[in-house]
Amino acid sequence: MAKGNINVSVENIFPLIKKFLYSDHEIFLRELISNATDATLKLKHLTSIGEAKVEYGNPIIEVKIDKEGKKLHIIDQGIGMTAEEVEKYINQVAFSGAEEFLDKYKDAGKDAGIIGHFGLGFYSAFMVADKVEIITKSYKDEPAAHWTCDGSPEFTLVEGDKKERGTEIILHISEDEQEFLEEARIRELLTKYNKFMPIPIKFGTKEINDPDFTPKTTKDKDGKETTEPHKKITVDDIINNPDPAWTKQPADLEDEDYKKFYRELYPMQFEEPLFNIHLNVDYPFNLTGILYFPKMTNDLNIQKDKIQLYQNQVFVTDNVEGIVPEFLTMLRGVIDSPDIPLNVSRSYLQADGNVKKISSYITRKVADKLKSLFNNNREDFEKKWDDIKIVIEYGMLSEEKFFEKADAFALYPTVDGKHYTFEELTNAIKAKQTDKDDKMVILYASNKDEQHSYIQTAKDKGYEVLLLDSPIVSHLMQKLETSKENISFARVDADHIDNLIKKEDTAISKLSDEEKTKLDELLKDVVPSEKFMVQLEAMDSSASPFMITQPEFMRRMKE
Ligand code: ADP
Ligand code: MG
Repeated sequence: MAKGNINVSVENIFPLIKKFLYSDHEIFLRELISNATDATLKLKHLTSIGEAKVEYGNPIIEVKIDKEGKKLHIIDQGIGMTAEEVEKYINQVAFSGAEEFLDKYKDAGKDAGIIGHFGLGFYSAFMVADKVEIITKSYKDEPAAHWTCDGSPEFTLVEGDKKERGTEIILHISEDEQEFLEEARIRELLTKYNKFMPIPIKFGTKEINDPDFTPKTTKDKDGKETTEPHKKITVDDIINNPDPAWTKQPADLEDEDYKKFYRELYPMQFEEPLFNIHLNVDYPFNLTGILYFPKMTNDLNIQKDKIQLYQNQVFVTDNVEGIVPEFLTMLRGVIDSPDIPLNVSRSYLQADGNVKKISSYITRKVADKLKSLFNNNREDFEKKWDDIKIVIEYGMLSEEKFFEKADAFALYPTVDGKHYTFEELTNAIKAKQTDKDDKMVILYASNKDEQHSYIQTAKDKGYEVLLLDSPIVSHLMQKLETSKENISFARVDADHIDNLIKKEDTAISKLSDEEKTKLDELLKDVVPSEKFMVQLEAMDSSASPFMITQPEFMRRMKE
C-alpha cells in the first residue's frame, strides 16, 4: 500500500475547491463524464491503430446512485490507468490543472457564470464529495489500482481487485450536497450537459415493449375481441444521442432529419422550424452546428437564449452573447466549437480574433442561405417573409456586412401583397415617384386600415405603397436613406407627396393675403405647433383652404 501527500505547496486547495463556484457545483458531473468519454475515445483510437490489442466492443458509460451508501458511481470501459498513471495523471496532472485554475480565478468569483463554463477537471469532484475513490484497470496487462482521497492532501493508493478494463469513480457525497443522490436531479444534469455526448450513457433501466413480441388478439364466443398485453422487457436507459445531426455531413441528412433533431433539441416546441442552416468549417477554426429559423413574432424581447453552445458534444452554455452576432441570437440550434475560449470574460471574448471570425462566418452563412432560399424558391420565400423579416431587418441595421448581402433578398411588401427587392422597387417607381429635387420617394403605410383613404388616393395616382409595419422599420428606413442614393421615405399621408412629379404651374391662390393671415392666427391657437404643421392651400387638387400634417420624423417616432 502506498500513502502519499499530493503536494504541500497547495495544501489549501480542497477547502477552496469546495467553496468555489457555489452555484456551479453541478458541473462536477459533466467533468467526470467528459473524462470517462475521453478515456473511451482514447481506447477507440489505440485499438484502431493497433496499439491496444484488446476488443473495443460497444463501450458505455454508466452513472449509478447508491442512495443508502450515499455514493454516486461513474463507470467507464475506457483505457483505465495503471497505478503509476494514477500517480502521474491524478496526483500531478489533474492537481496542477486544478491549482492553476484556482490561481487564475480565485479573485474572479463574481464572474462565476463564465468560470463555470470552464472545468476544474477531475478535482471538481471535491465540490460535492468529501471522499473520492478511483478504482481503475488499464487496458495494459497490469493489476487494478485503488486510489482514495478524503479531501485532504493525503491519499492512499493500493492494488484493487477490479477485473474489467476501465475506471470507476466513486463519490461519497457530502452532507450538504445530498441533492446529487436524487434520481431526478442527476437525470436533469445528464440531459442538460450530456445529451449529445459521443459515448452512450446509461442511467438505470427502463421497461419497453418487447419488439420481438406481437400481442395476440382472440375472439370470445360473442365475437368480442381481446388483445393480450404487450410483453415488456427491461433495457438500459441510455440518456443521450451519441450521433447528433450536427456531427454528420449535410449530404447525409434529409429535411426530415433536421426536423427530428429540432424536436430533440426542443421537445416542448411544437411548431416546426421554417428552415435550417448547417454550419461546417474546419479552417481557420473548427465549428459545426445547425441553426434554425423559427417563426418569429414582432416582439424583439422573446426567443433569446435558444442557441446552445457545445464543445466536442459537451454542453457548455445557452448564452452565446458575444459569439453569435446579436441579431442571430433570435435563432435556435447548436454551435459546437473547441476554438471558443470560455475561460475569459465576455468583453475579452468579443475582442478575440477567432471569435470574431466565427461570428462573421456565421453571419455570412446565414446570408448565403437566405439568398439561396430566395433564388431557388422566391414564392416560398415571400410567404415566409413575415415570419423572418424581424431577424433580417435587425441584421441589416446592426451588421454592415449583412446589410450589403441582404440587398439581394430583403423584401419590401406592398399594400397589395406584392414583394419587391429594393432594386425592383426603385425600378418600379422611378418614373412616377420622383420629387422636384429628383429624389425617389418611397411611399409606405404602417397600418392598412387607419391609412386606408390615403392609400387609395396614392394608388389612384399610380403610386406604389409599401406596407412596413415591423417595430424597427423606422430605423431601417433611416439606414436606407443614408446608405442608398437619392431616395427618401414618406408615409402615405405625408403632405408633400402630391407634388411628386415636377409641376410647371403653381395653383393660384384662392385666399387673399388678409384671409391667410387671419386663418394662420386662428390655427396657431388650436394646433400645437411642436407636433403639427399647418399648410395653407397645400393641396392643389382639393378645395380645402388648409391642411394640418405631422412632420415625417414625428410620424416615425410614434411607432
Ligand atoms: P483533463 O481531462 O483536462 O486532462 P482532468 O483533471 O479532468 O484533466 O483529468 C486529469 C487526467 O486524469 C486526465 O488527463 C486523464 O489522463 C486522467 N483521467 C481522469 N479520469 C479518467 C478516466 N475515467 N479514465 C482514464 N483516465 C482518466
Ligand atoms: Mg477532464
